Amino acid sequence: MKEISCEALLVYLSDYIDNHLDEELTAVAQHHLATCENCRIVLDSTQKTIILFKEKSKEVIPAERKARLFHQLQDAFLAGKEPTK
Ligand SMILES: [Zn+2]
Repeated sequence: MKEISCEALLVYLSDYIDNHLDEELTAVAQHHLATCENCRIVLDSTQKTIILFKEKSKEVIPAERKARLFHQLQDAFLAGKEPTK
């Protein structure tokens, strides 16, 4: 199984939630999420926020808005993370 970093996972996370990843990347993402609590938390918060937004608006989230939301979570996550050297 290919290993990816948290940063790489976050790049794919939005597509993972939308089921836009191919089979291999989905498997890689699932493997990472199974072993990385931080990324599970980010995934969980992202999904919850998207669900809340959907319930409120009864509409599909505009891609631009979702991207902004996702990047906010991504920035927060990366800012709170120790640099890996
Ligand atoms: Zn991770």
